[in-house]
Amino acid sequence: MKALSVIPLRAGSAALVDVDEPPASDGPILVETLAVGICGTDIEILSGAYGWSPPGRERLVLGHESLGRVLEAPAGAPVTVGDLVVGIVRRPDPVPCANCAVMEWDFCRNGQYTERGIKEHDGYLSERYRITPDFVVKVDARLGLLGVLLEPTSVVAKAWEEVERVGGRAHWSPRTVLVTGAGPIGLLAALLGVQRSLDVHVLDRMSEGVKPELVRSLGATYHSGAVGDIGFQPDVIIECTGVSSVILDAMTNVGVGGVMCLTGVSSGGHQINFDEGAMNRNMVLENVAVVGSVNANRRHYEAAAAALAAADRDWLSRLITRRVALEDWADALTRHDDDVKVVIEVQPGTAS
Ligand code: BGC
Repeated sequence: MKALSVIPLRAGSAALVDVDEPPASDGPILVETLAVGICGTDIEILSGAYGWSPPGRERLVLGHESLGRVLEAPAGAPVTVGDLVVGIVRRPDPVPCANCAVMEWDFCRNGQYTERGIKEHDGYLSERYRITPDFVVKVDARLGLLGVLLEPTSVVAKAWEEVERVGGRAHWSPRTVLVTGAGPIGLLAALLGVQRSLDVHVLDRMSEGVKPELVRSLGATYHSGAVGDIGFQPDVIIECTGVSSVILDAMTNVGVGGVMCLTGVSSGGHQINFDEGAMNRNMVLENVAVVGSVNANRRHYEAAAAALAAADRDWLSRLITRRVALEDWADALTRHDDDVKVVIEVQPGTAS
């Protein structure tokens, strides 16, 4: 079967290659891949900056934002033949650490976790894959191709859970949320804010185009200036840019008793002048909490599946701004100006 693979840490090594059928050791459920979403992590792997191949192998099959259809499932499995499904990205470490032992692999403590399509385990960008029941999540059939948004939604479902758990340290009745960054993660974070009946604001660099339109049609407010200019201090900030200047600006503008969740991964190496003292003073005197969040466990995938099932499907479909056939994968991995979510269709038209 065909698969898109790379040699991790080697730029320009991506290629559509023939690989063996998925190994039985990956699990008893056989899934036909319909589509795979592309995100910043894939672009980083492509550029040779991130990623690990499976032990003893040179190449890693890419793809962690998947949508597939079940071809074979054993009796008693949580999914049956024909179901639309998404594969969870992370697998617990083999030790396992205290967190992985209780299925909270998103909080793995020893770094020995694996991630499909990213770290030491082939991803989902092959015509078929195998998986075990614990790591497959059923998608509402009415979502069709939109089910490919489940993995990025799981990341923001976790971020929201973090915000609510930290906020719940004292009386917690947030009203306003600012999302920095109007990429797929930011827009999905905004969707979950609207679903919580909050007053949602989204800030990004673009002053026109699809991003402001998507924010407004969600019923949220769009800003394109600096965080300090939005005119209020939000109770919640969900940071989805990874850009240091935006992060610091946001950290100094969290409302009293507010919570800021960082989801964007910065590249590092940028140094800017910054008044750490003023930031510390603000955070201490106003009980501000800043929390980092990565990945997602099964609970977050299930919350994400429910959030997508309850969302407006027309709005969700506008997030997928380009669909590219597997043979044209190189085009999917090249950023276009108005891209929000680009999806590679492995079986074109089968999940529309
Ligand atoms: C994925 C996460 C993963 C993270 C770090 C993100 O793109 O969505 O599942 O944990 O990259 O590898």
